[in-house]
Amino acid sequence: MIHTATHVEAGPLECAVCHFEQAAERLQLDDGMRAMLANSRRELSVSFPVKMDDGSLQVFHGYRVHHNDTRGPVKGGLRYSLAVNLDEVRALAMLMTWKCAVAHLPYGGAKGGVTVDPRGLSEGELERLTRRFGSEIGSFIGPERDIPAPDMGTNDRVMAWLMDTYSMSQGYSVPASFTGKPTSIGGSVGRAGATGRGIFFVTQEAYKQLGLSLEGATVAIQGFGNVGSTAARIFSAAGANVVAVSDSAEAIYDPSGLGDIDAIVASKREAGRLPSEHLHPGDHITNAELLALPVDILIPAALEGQITGANADAVKAKMIVEGANGPVVCSADAILEGNGTAVIPDIIANAGGVIVSYFEWVQDLQSFFWEEENINRRLERMIKSAFLEVTEEQEQNGGSLRDAAYRLAVGRVVEATEDRGIFP
Ligand code: NAD
Repeated sequence: MIHTATHVEAGPLECAVCHFEQAAERLQLDDGMRAMLANSRRELSVSFPVKMDDGSLQVFHGYRVHHNDTRGPVKGGLRYSLAVNLDEVRALAMLMTWKCAVAHLPYGGAKGGVTVDPRGLSEGELERLTRRFGSEIGSFIGPERDIPAPDMGTNDRVMAWLMDTYSMSQGYSVPASFTGKPTSIGGSVGRAGATGRGIFFVTQEAYKQLGLSLEGATVAIQGFGNVGSTAARIFSAAGANVVAVSDSAEAIYDPSGLGDIDAIVASKREAGRLPSEHLHPGDHITNAELLALPVDILIPAALEGQITGANADAVKAKMIVEGANGPVVCSADAILEGNGTAVIPDIIANAGGVIVSYFEWVQDLQSFFWEEENINRRLERMIKSAFLEVTEEQEQNGGSLRDAAYRLAVGRVVEATEDRGIFP
């Protein structure tokens, strides 16, 4: 059984604001601009009833937050998890603003979610909850306003229900209203694996800059959902050695390598759990142990707040690539830096998902679809060149990669704000 990090000094919102404030200080932003960017532009909280299979009514709570729309319509995922609350959604919306800016996407940041464990719902309950939530946030979203995508606990099927619900309200099909949809209704090839693929491209570029090869590099991955399992597959196919993976129930570790990642993915899909029968009994480790493994690359790809001031000292990985949003809390950054662990921050490391979501939106608006090879090539070019800008900024002006990425991102949003001016 996995024990998650319990010593979380700051919540996700405090962490997000702390990273922003550090950049604001460095960019010498005035108080007005700081206050504007530290707060959400608009927030919607909804409570709505869903008819359960047993005939009862259950009330669920959901949110959609627009952090900033200065650079364009807002973009960000919808999360279904029991941990969803307004502060978490605010934090994740703010991260999306910086992520879109650092990747040069013409979007602002948003996030949303419902406080629910989707695994506890039947298919019918999940569909009714999704459609009702979609209807509740209907006035907030739209292809020119706010384009949601999948995140933890949601997937292409959920996006299909939401796109259909929104289209019904408009009276015609609006494929560009959501991204991460099935390809049969305007989804993009390459979107499902885009975040994991982007994590790989960024790590490959970082390794290239260090004069190292990913061949044989040891990798531990926390979380084996969309992001974690795709990253495991792609790193392994490129010759890296994936030695540990985990999900919310358990973690498996083999120092010589876990072998066939496709078989682990198939086991998770078919049996609902990670395979352990071919591993030695001692190869079950706790989540805390996974985070402290002596590996070259650690990819936290599950929840925020996993590496904190309490466990950062135990991390032995040479590099952390933030697959999840906010997995390293503010107070852990300095400890990791002091110990020589490089952190590639979420706002660039996991930007592959929103980059290909952008491609999906563009394709839907034009009703003209690209081939997967083209998508993957464009993703590689965009994310590597964005990462290069971050490392150049770090070289020129110092600090960590996170400091550099935030300076670029916040600077771009400030520039857009100044160019537009303040209404009225
Ligand atoms: P997912 O729901 O597909 O998978 C989440 C995984 O995390 C599951 O394997 C789950 O078992 C595991 N998990 C949950 N609690 C855990 C715990 N305590 N310890 C270990 N594992 C645990 O979600 P996802 O889409 O893969 O998203 C994962 C992270 O990546 C989130 O932080 C999300 O915001 C971020 N992210 C996702 C995308 C995307 O395109 N899906 C893009 C950018 C960032």
